[in-house]
Amino acid sequence: MDCRTAQSMITPFIDNKLKLEELEEFIDHVSSCHECHEELEVYYALLTAMKQLNEDRNLSDDFSLDLKNKIERAQEKILHVKYVYYRKKVILILAMIFMAIFIGLGYASRSINVDPGVSKSKFKIRNEFKHGNNDWIDYQLELYLND
Ligand SMILES: [Zn+2]
Repeated sequence: MDCRTAQSMITPFIDNKLKLEELEEFIDHVSSCHECHEELEVYYALLTAMKQLNEDRNLSDDFSLDLKNKIERAQEKILHVKYVYYRKKVILILAMIFMAIFIGLGYASRSINVDPGVSKSKFKIRNEFKHGNNDWIDYQLELYLND
């Protein structure tokens, strides 16, 4: 962010009207740019004093401390939103991993179920031979199956 953009955001910042991304970039800039930080302090003192006079409140004794607190609160807000965002992302990823595991288990148990099916069908064939009264084939088959 350049100084001109940052300085155009001073009033919206004081009025809490910046979007979160703007707020983050703005704070980044004013904490590293001395010129813009000074500008912000002047505007903050001016606008806050006017507001406090308008609302018939006592004037702050330390605008620069007030501003510091305001910036810290904004940073905490950004951190909190980011934390919530990443936590949601992590939960989503974990949910996807669990889903993948469950789907994987589902496939695994299905392939286990296939085996008894196959042996059942072998048993059926043997029974059909038995019904045909063919003892020799039955015997051979039994030998083959017992092998
Ligand atoms: Zn600047």
